[in-house]
Amino acid sequence: MIAPVMPTYARKPLEFERGSGAHLYTADGETYLDFAGGVAVSALGHGHPGLVQALTDQAARLWHVSNLFDIPGQKRLAQRLVEATFADTVFFGNSGAEAVECAIKTARRYHYASGAPERYRVITFEGAFHGRTLATIAAGGQAKLLDGFGPKVDGFDQVPFADLKAVRAAIGEETAAILLEPVQGEGGVRVVEPEILRQLRKLADDAGILLILDEIQTGMGRTGRLFAHEWAGITPDIMAIAKALGCGFPIGACLATAEAAKGMTAGTHGSTFGGNPLAMAVGNTVLNVMLEPEFLPRVESLSIALRQKLARLADEHRDIIGEVRGLGLMIGLKCKVPSGDLIDAAGKEKLLTVPAGDNVCRLLPPLNIMPADVDEALEKLHRACLALETAGRT
Ligand code: PLP
Repeated sequence: MIAPVMPTYARKPLEFERGSGAHLYTADGETYLDFAGGVAVSALGHGHPGLVQALTDQAARLWHVSNLFDIPGQKRLAQRLVEATFADTVFFGNSGAEAVECAIKTARRYHYASGAPERYRVITFEGAFHGRTLATIAAGGQAKLLDGFGPKVDGFDQVPFADLKAVRAAIGEETAAILLEPVQGEGGVRVVEPEILRQLRKLADDAGILLILDEIQTGMGRTGRLFAHEWAGITPDIMAIAKALGCGFPIGACLATAEAAKGMTAGTHGSTFGGNPLAMAVGNTVLNVMLEPEFLPRVESLSIALRQKLARLADEHRDIIGEVRGLGLMIGLKCKVPSGDLIDAAGKEKLLTVPAGDNVCRLLPPLNIMPADVDEALEKLHRACLALETAGRT
């Protein structure tokens, strides 16, 4: 017998009824502190009044018309993303994987439109995660995601993480682009050093290929800048975003320079739901909040304080936490015990965290979190570590 919901997830037997700020509530009155954030989605916490208002106002007016017509909210969000970034143009979809698909297609079409259709291959990095469609599992290159799904989509060459020499060697006459996450999320909160990003930008320029950044997890303020590449002082040619752009309402977007998008003419790409009025009302409101001058500096200062406290916690519990890594409020605790044990122990303390590769427990709190919530998280993590230490001694 198969469950009515296709069992592709190993879910925790836990249901939430309501959320407010950094907290989630079960029907039987239990309160959880949410440092999982729907995997870097709920950047403004739960039940943000401005987002609720924007969505309900739009819901009362108009839900959907399709991309056969102009959508004012879409033009506005695209314009504002263009003004806030390197990009000249934006395609809206509904998810991260779709945003990456669009990014890959845009890069291939760029070379096609430039008279080099043989350039279609994309260089990616070990440990990457770019989504679950056939092309994005090929881009991610992880055997466990590719297994059993037939021939891997052609066109991806994977090299070791952040290995410039290997990238240089992999660039050939068929290479179209380099694709990477500035901080690998699923791969274990592994930060690509700013200097490596600058070198990759240079390698791409020298080879006449494109640099695509997957900022689906790192983007929209998560690292203390609107986009993580800003820390390195470089810009990509194409960027995929999603997750916190909708803070829980499904949105994905592919941003590109005019040059990189020159092949994306009418009829080359599309999405029925992409950029619909509901999604755009939410996306525009998310930007209103994140572009307030005090928002990102606050994320940065909160993240410094949190990481300092976590470093002290790691010192106190050296047998449990080996390293605190990450950028801004995208934080990984590299564990000395199986990371699942720490995640379960934190869950018992009613703190939600997310597993990641490389034996890491990920912390992805709301970006507008209150200092009291940070202290609560620290206390819960401390108790979780104590419980593991006690269990280890018995
Ligand atoms: N790229 C990155 C870096 C991600 O973290 C994710 C999702 O976790 C994706 C792509 C895929 O996004 P989605 O699940 O919305 O398709």
